[in-house]
Amino acid sequence: MAYIDSNTNKFEDFKGVWVFAEQREGKIMPVVYELLGEARKIADKLNEKVAAVLLGNNVDRLTEDLIKHGADKVYIAEDENLESFTTDGYSKVISNLISEYKPEIVLIGATHIGRDLAPRIAAKSGTGLTADCTNLEIDDEDGKLLMTRPAFGGNIMATIICPNHRPQMSTVRPGVMKKAEKDDTRTGEVIKYEPNIKEEDIRTQIINVIKKAKNDVAIEDADIIVTGGRGLGNKEGFELLEKFAKKIGGVVGASRAAVDNGWIDHSHQVGQTGTTVRPKLYIACGVSGAIQHVTGMKDSDFIVAINKNKDAPIFKVADIGIVGDLYNIVPKIIEKLDKM
Ligand code: FAD
Repeated sequence: MAYIDSNTNKFEDFKGVWVFAEQREGKIMPVVYELLGEARKIADKLNEKVAAVLLGNNVDRLTEDLIKHGADKVYIAEDENLESFTTDGYSKVISNLISEYKPEIVLIGATHIGRDLAPRIAAKSGTGLTADCTNLEIDDEDGKLLMTRPAFGGNIMATIICPNHRPQMSTVRPGVMKKAEKDDTRTGEVIKYEPNIKEEDIRTQIINVIKKAKNDVAIEDADIIVTGGRGLGNKEGFELLEKFAKKIGGVVGASRAAVDNGWIDHSHQVGQTGTTVRPKLYIACGVSGAIQHVTGMKDSDFIVAINKNKDAPIFKVADIGIVGDLYNIVPKIIEKLDKM
């Protein structure tokens, strides 16, 4: 157990802002670049350094990329027992690293892996965790990390601090923060860490990895999203949106109501319990604009809403609002595009 004793460790002993550099099959996850951008801002404010923590097997070629995206240091732990993510293996190595190097702040993407890993690291390190944050700031007065996340079903935003323990830890929703710009001139330090992890430390064994079907789109990476809500009325409505999206080079998103009705897979869901997106163009068709949906798409560059109710809240965040039946409007747009 890598528990940090708060009696023998003072806050001043904890330095630096760490980012867990989640990689899958040797590819850094997009949220890591978002966290590096955020970590850079926080570290500059605190006058501290940014470190990325990279675990895996034969992943040292990724260190340079992390440095070019804002890391001053990369702690790298490589071992064949770390080749695939396991809760036991990764949480043990990262909490040992935390106990040895004492970071002040640890940021982890709120991916499936991050959501599994972060609470275990926090528990092993004897500190708190604010999960699923959508905003991070440094308090101008005392330098504490202010971690903001939706609470009570998204009806309020709660700002949380970790007053008595270190490190301050958060998981951060993918797609919310801006990605760090790549700077090819940046240099940094790579610190090899001996993970000391044995097969018997890991209680699970990965027998097989089954990949998602190919048409499962990553809506978080799309420039154009055409989203359907309950207003579609049925599953077949998504065929029309699919056609529309294809025409304009986009992908299909969905509200939770559409997903809960079984009309489309959850991987398409936009919002608080789905994915946060910020495409160049977001077209909401038959979506009312509930706060939990809007939280996940309000930062889109340009929003078009089609809704037959002129008072639908979605019009408050829309740049263009079209009042009418989507089944009249969408086919007409497709027809126009066909003629272009
Ligand atoms: P509705 O609210 O029913 O709206 C349908 C709209 O379609 C209406 O405005 C109607 O006027 C319009 N309409 C109907 N027919 C037509 C037509 N022919 N042409 C044009 N317009 C038409 N929701 C999410 O989307 N994402 C989330 O991640 C999410 N997370 C949640 C988490 C929690 C904890 C909770 C409590 C709720 C969450 N919700 C989420 C649910 C959210 O509160 C709403 O219930 C949901 O977003 C409503 O989906 P909707 O807009 O498709 O349906």
